[in-house]
Amino acid sequence: MVRVGVIGFGTIGKRVADAISKQEDMELIGVAKTRPDYKAVVAVEKGYRLYVPKERIELFENTGIKISGSIDELLDRVDVIVDATPGGVGIKNKEELYKHRDVKVVFQGGEKPGVAEISFNALANYEEAIGKRYVRVVSCNTTAILRIISAFLLNNIALEKIRVFIARRGADPHEYSRGPIHDVVLDPPTIPSHHAVDVKSVIPKIDIVTSAIAIPVTLAHLHFVHLTFKEGISLDKIVDILYKTPRILVVESTKGFKSVGQLFEWAKDIGRYRNDIPENIVFRESIYVSNREALLIMAVHQESIVIPENIDAIRALTGYTDKWDSIKKTDRSLNLFMEGKVYG
Ligand code: NAD
Repeated sequence: MVRVGVIGFGTIGKRVADAISKQEDMELIGVAKTRPDYKAVVAVEKGYRLYVPKERIELFENTGIKISGSIDELLDRVDVIVDATPGGVGIKNKEELYKHRDVKVVFQGGEKPGVAEISFNALANYEEAIGKRYVRVVSCNTTAILRIISAFLLNNIALEKIRVFIARRGADPHEYSRGPIHDVVLDPPTIPSHHAVDVKSVIPKIDIVTSAIAIPVTLAHLHFVHLTFKEGISLDKIVDILYKTPRILVVESTKGFKSVGQLFEWAKDIGRYRNDIPENIVFRESIYVSNREALLIMAVHQESIVIPENIDAIRALTGYTDKWDSIKKTDRSLNLFMEGKVYG
């Protein structure tokens, strides 16, 4: 049983904590929070042990929130930490909290690649993370792009180049102070955007260029993907590969899927916890193929897409060698779409 703690209990951290508590081979020892807000209350109500900075113990106790100890005590009780703090805090935590302790760490995509020995995506490079001490799960957009690339590489289909235009959600639903509200922002104003660099932190030799704008939406990102293969490929082959690849969901407009909002209505209707859709969602009829070129449109649920990857990263760090078994265990535990998927 791997003992895991989560530091940072926001959008990603709370989901990772829930996912850890569903794994048969992991025990969630506790979660760390710095502020005694409603999220801390929810954590305690869920039965999660709460750890806080030493100097804030009194503050939490004064607000009546039950705590189990300091963050130092949490660190003494775990084998692995998932650091889900905002970008830039993880690297500070590495220096101040993790480096001098016998603990392995999964960082998130907001950190620079140098924070870890390896940047991680389960389909793309699980094997390279086995037994490492520090791993960084790449960001939501990068995770989605890497899954698409991996779907083809794992089927021995060579890609000449990949171009992706990303319409980024402006903010997560709870981020009331972020925008844009009535605008479309070049985000970033330069091409390529950092996503291409991030993809290369996992697959260095890929020819990829990405560009991105931010739009006034909180639901999901939308990717317009342009793939050029080394040899001609048929529409049927592409569709077959995407249907069979774990963590890629292909939805059809003939079944009524024509918008991102509908995807989340569907997720609510089928009882997905928090309406999360951790799979890449590819719109089937957007797939266009002409000889060596293919286009497709996919939605990326930024709040949940990296959660399965965090679980696999924990297993890889602790030396679990069976990549496909890990991916399968994770997908089953998180109730992901598995019918017709090929694991390995
Ligand atoms: P968030 O702001 O929702 O959550 C971060 C939490 O960490 C907050 O509750 C904050 O109070 C807490 N925190 C800050 N400093 C802390 C500290 N020193 N110790 C303990 N807790 C601390 O952020 P998020 O969206 O969950 O992002 C976390 C990481 O995941 C970032 O690296 C981000 O880039 C990455 N990520 C975010 C998304 C997304 O869409 N939200 C998707 C993929 C990856």
